[in-house]
Amino acid sequence: MKVLVTGGAGYIGSHCCKQLHRQGYQPVTIDNLVYGHAKNVKWGSFYRGDIQDDQLLERIFSENDIGAVMHFAAFAYVGESVEEPQKYYTNNLRNTITLLEKVLQHTVSCFIFSSTCATYGLPQTIPIDEDHPRAPINPYGSSKYMIERILTDYGKAYDFRFTSLRYFNAAGADPDGEIGEDHTPETHLIPLILDVAKGRRENLKVFGNDYDTDDGSCVRDYVHVTDLADAHVSALEKLLGGAPSDFVNLGTGRGFSVLQVIEQAAAVTGKKIAYEIVGRRPGDPAVLIASNAKARTALGWKPNLSDLKTIVQTAWNWHRGI
Ligand code: UDP
Repeated sequence: MKVLVTGGAGYIGSHCCKQLHRQGYQPVTIDNLVYGHAKNVKWGSFYRGDIQDDQLLERIFSENDIGAVMHFAAFAYVGESVEEPQKYYTNNLRNTITLLEKVLQHTVSCFIFSSTCATYGLPQTIPIDEDHPRAPINPYGSSKYMIERILTDYGKAYDFRFTSLRYFNAAGADPDGEIGEDHTPETHLIPLILDVAKGRRENLKVFGNDYDTDDGSCVRDYVHVTDLADAHVSALEKLLGGAPSDFVNLGTGRGFSVLQVIEQAAAVTGKKIAYEIVGRRPGDPAVLIASNAKARTALGWKPNLSDLKTIVQTAWNWHRGI
């Protein structure tokens, strides 16, 4: 079966293509390569272009018997979304509406959506489960939340079912070393730390050590990208088997502080990681940890590679080579 993967040349999308291929599906990637890399498209076919390109989408659907869609294509810089909200509502929201139009026209009824814990906003309870109020605090999170609302309405009105997967902190790299995380600009904690280990960056700026956490730095729930990819394929199989639409968190249920991640990276790389404490980054909650109970029951999923050491080790194996 062919699965259309939007953003299949990106970090999470490419890991999902690999997993789809492994499990006997044929990924068909569409990616405009604004942030993705052509070299990441190693499994299945590739159409270079934008999901706002109605004609290209039409061509893809007519040339391929698409049985399901996984939708990753999006801008995902929280800070930028505050500065340039129009970019986010246009690219993430409007273009998804265009994509959904084609999906419905071509009567594809299974849709996996790449969502985020940013749809919850500031946590009122930890761990965060799927019923936690959705109150995004930036345009990136809002754009994803608005899409979830649209998916819900489409699911009620049309022959259309979806799974919206709300990721916590995606991290790590393919254990085989074929693909990994490579953003420009890089803003994510682990690749930045590994840049310091490589000598490519002088030090890491730790955004605040005065949070209400054990060591004062922010705590996040890091989940291995290959575990995320597994969850996507499980969600796809459940949907194809007739499961109803759902929203599912993907995280480990455990949190690590920025300083703990630095310490783990020092142990894995054998390098000293220089860092300096700077001010808080606006919009960063002290702690974000998922409840993954629903992922375990609804998807039969469990994280296998998401212990911090494996995350950092696989990321390092990849990162030292780029
Ligand atoms: N962080 C940091 N310095 C950096 C980048 C990130 O201290 O240069 C912290 C950030 O405040 C957050 C955690 O690392 O608590 C993870 O941030 P990242 O940007 O990787 O993911 P996010 O949590 O924003 O999705």
